[in-house]
Amino acid sequence: MTAMMKAAVFVAPGRIEIADKPIPGVGPNDALVRITTTTICGTDIHILKGEYPVAPGLTVGHEPVGVIEKLGSAVTGYREGQRVIAGAICPNFNSYAAQDGVPSQDGSYLVPQGLCGCHGYKATAGWRFGNLIDGTQAEYVLVPDAQANLAPIPDGLTDEQVLMCPDIMSTGFKGAENANIRIGDVVAVFAQGPIGLCATAGARLSGATTIIAIDGNPHRLDIARKLGADVTLNFRECDVVDEIMKLTGGRGVDASIEALGTQSTFASALRVLKPGGTLSSLGVYSEDLTLPLSAFAAGLGDHKINTALCPGGKERMRRLINVLESGRLDLGLLVTHEFKLDDIVAAYELFANQRDNVLKVAVKPH
Ligand SMILES: [Zn+2]
Repeated sequence: MTAMMKAAVFVAPGRIEIADKPIPGVGPNDALVRITTTTICGTDIHILKGEYPVAPGLTVGHEPVGVIEKLGSAVTGYREGQRVIAGAICPNFNSYAAQDGVPSQDGSYLVPQGLCGCHGYKATAGWRFGNLIDGTQAEYVLVPDAQANLAPIPDGLTDEQVLMCPDIMSTGFKGAENANIRIGDVVAVFAQGPIGLCATAGARLSGATTIIAIDGNPHRLDIARKLGADVTLNFRECDVVDEIMKLTGGRGVDASIEALGTQSTFASALRVLKPGGTLSSLGVYSEDLTLPLSAFAAGLGDHKINTALCPGGKERMRRLINVLESGRLDLGLLVTHEFKLDDIVAAYELFANQRDNVLKVAVKPH
């Protein structure tokens, strides 16, 4: 008899529901992880609404915290019963893309299926959980290429403290890294959802000394101050571009980070950028973008525009955990609500509608 587990699956646009599924078998390079805590991401809301297509019946979620239940025969250096996380992005690190420094764009494992004919380069294909394979909003998840992707959790850190590592912290910090921040920089961070908040914290750790955080939600701006923002601007109360140009004496910011994925935040991030500055974009866009010509200096402004998908892999996770273990940052305060996996429909409802000042929900199978 096949052992079964509960999992949150995408049924159709507007419907993610709990279903019974078989506990997956473990191949030589896999690890079966028993989920102790997972969470819901803004990307899962795009999936729920049908804005980002996934196969019906797929288990959603891509942020695992758990315990190794069973290790594949080829996976060494870990033990069953060990607490671990894995990145939301699980590349296999064998591809041309990975060896070229962009493992998140690694689709090499799709080559045998004929889904990737370009030697492993396939945009976003490093993102497997809850996208191409069953995800983490379940009692168990199968971690592929476990040797490259499992990161042990130190005893002193709780599930809630490391829950941001797989995606939110990794993505937010990548926003700061891609902004080419230097000590003493002025940085503007557009949108202070969980990822924007982590970009603010990352800008602080990177040496920016004037960090301007922008959002329309006063509660989120308060959290931004706690995580490192020096100035907060509510776009409902001021003209953000005017205000930032005043704050910088007309110079513009050294770097701007876009953490929402809309035309208006992208355009503002470009309008406040100094000539030669870097726009680091994290947002997930769902429409064509237009570059405002004047802000783009007709293409002659020496601007740099960087985009990113969340970095994964055990070395990335180890570094993020190291930041938390050092005490330089506590992201536990982003976890505002807790739900049982059985109640995940209610968790989606709360999170999608941003009720009750929710930032992130902890979802626990047991
Ligand atoms: Zn995510």
